[in-house]
Amino acid sequence: MTRLKEVRRARYPHRNWSRQGYESQDKKPGDVKVVRAKNDLCSALEPLRGGRIGLVPTMGAFHEGHLALLRAARAECDTVVCSLFVNPTQFGQGEDLESYPRNEVRDLELARAKGVDFLFAPSAEEMYPPGFETLVEPERLALELEGVIRPSHFRGVATICLKLFNIVRPSVAYFGSKDAQQIAVIERLARDLDLELEIRPVETVRDDDGLALSSRNAYLSPAERKVALALPRALELGAKAARDGGNPVTSARAALDEEPGLKTQYVAVANFAGKRLLAAVQVGRTRLIDNVLLKGAER
Ligand code: AMP
Repeated sequence: MTRLKEVRRARYPHRNWSRQGYESQDKKPGDVKVVRAKNDLCSALEPLRGGRIGLVPTMGAFHEGHLALLRAARAECDTVVCSLFVNPTQFGQGEDLESYPRNEVRDLELARAKGVDFLFAPSAEEMYPPGFETLVEPERLALELEGVIRPSHFRGVATICLKLFNIVRPSVAYFGSKDAQQIAVIERLARDLDLELEIRPVETVRDDDGLALSSRNAYLSPAERKVALALPRALELGAKAARDGGNPVTSARAALDEEPGLKTQYVAVANFAGKRLLAAVQVGRTRLIDNVLLKGAER
């Protein structure tokens, strides 16, 4: 970085310098480094701490939703770290930890193409060595909606995110709004535990048919996928009802009830990264969540 860039950055730390063509043009895709050990990542990041470090936590099996997070991080940060870790502590009993889609070779190629600097892909033992016994327990925000159906989920999410934040010490961490409650829990974690980092939500990326991209969509048969489309459709109807002065929850639920192939787990309005209409459904053995921002409720 030139002296001028350094001075400007120090003076206006929140400005997005890369949009003006600085770092994003300095970085050529192709030199992503795969790191397995926490200590190796810390050492590699040490000389880069003068710049803005962005972290994108993921469980891999990348789709365009993940890539949107990587793109945002690349545009706004000097160094981009993407973590790839299927975190066992956020899966409950009987959930899909074993069968969760994994494709590290493909993920590495996509990370490379998106200009990621470090792909942190540790083993479960590296993150949870024998004797590990400390978990982060988020309270109220984590007990409703997803927390009712997946009681220990946010404990696992909060624990792995805090660990990643401590290892990477990012200036900013990127999360998808598809998991809006997760963003609310992580924002609260950062506030309550005095973490010095910015949580940056990125809007949900959808397929052309409206279904929110998710690694778990791979489980859907073609017939189930058709059924699953009732979820984004119902949320859009709910959002429209809200715009027209009606009740978004009632409208969305009515639309979901018309689709016999799915089981509705919840439909609710909550203030998670803005006021949103959220829903979770089960289609066959696949659980899907989605949400939409309610118009006029942008934060
Ligand atoms: P996962 O690998 O499923 O844990 O997701 C990693 C990150 O990608 C999380 O912050 C998710 O919220 C985000 N994400 C997942 N699906 C999407 C999507 N369709 N659009 C935007 N972000 C997403």
